[in-house]
Amino acid sequence: MLDQLLSHPVVSGLILMGLIGALSYRLHFVDISGLISAFVVGFTVWYTGGPAAFVILLFYFIAAGIATKFKYKAKARLGIAQEAKGKRSWKNVFGSGTIPMLFSIGVYLSRQLAIQGFVDPSLAFWMFGGYVGAVSTTAADTLASELGVFSKSKPRLITNLRRKVPTGTIGGVSLLGEAVALLAGTFIGYILVLFAVFARPLVPISSDAQVFYLMPLAIITAFAGCNADSLIGATLQNRYVCEICGMITDKEFHCGYETKYVGGFKRLSNFIVNFGSSGMGATFGIVLGAGFFVWVLSGLFFWLLASSSK
Ligand SMILES: [Zn+2]
Repeated sequence: MLDQLLSHPVVSGLILMGLIGALSYRLHFVDISGLISAFVVGFTVWYTGGPAAFVILLFYFIAAGIATKFKYKAKARLGIAQEAKGKRSWKNVFGSGTIPMLFSIGVYLSRQLAIQGFVDPSLAFWMFGGYVGAVSTTAADTLASELGVFSKSKPRLITNLRRKVPTGTIGGVSLLGEAVALLAGTFIGYILVLFAVFARPLVPISSDAQVFYLMPLAIITAFAGCNADSLIGATLQNRYVCEICGMITDKEFHCGYETKYVGGFKRLSNFIVNFGSSGMGATFGIVLGAGFFVWVLSGLFFWLLASSSK
């Protein structure tokens, strides 16, 4: 009786989220609003996407929390640290968690529909590809920005790799950051492969071939999504220049003074850029999970989007 109750996904989910929530609040990973939203995102993913989906999200959550705290004072001195002593609020959590959560619900729905015989079982894997893509992108992007700033050499601008820019510049990339992004993707891929090999029912896959997709799916989406984020940041995001230190930033204040607007769409904040890049990561994920013809469709879509915005 008790073990049946405990193994019910709602009960186990509530217990798990309670434990992780309490711990991450104590470690100052989140504030109260962040805690509540992380509970919503975490529980939804646990219930709809299953344990494997949840564990990669948890990896991101913990790694991001630790990376943000890592040498926080040094980052604060450079003016590139997260606000509020690195505690994430609902805005951060929903900014990085909404798209994964939607794809996780997509996994659940397409699995239910496949059981009824309404859709092909592979649809759930496309959705899972979108989920993995979004999580890998967000994880790679967060870890690369939090740790890439410790690169010994100055970062270079992604739109002009010959140009060196101050540490923390929007769209600045470094070898260390790229390595961290690849590592984050590899780690996520590794978790998924372990699940697929040792606990297959906990991963939404429907064929053996899909097991071999997991690792490249995670690594490619992490790398492509993270760089897509830098690219959008360098070209479209609102940018300000600090007239004291010369850094290009998204902050309206730097070095104690107001910064000057230099370009990008004013409404396009870092919040929206992160949303966009995790959506792009998800798109890469679906593309890789689904095969070739979606490449053509999404290529066409972005081409239309790019040509209509001019
Ligand atoms: Zn400055």
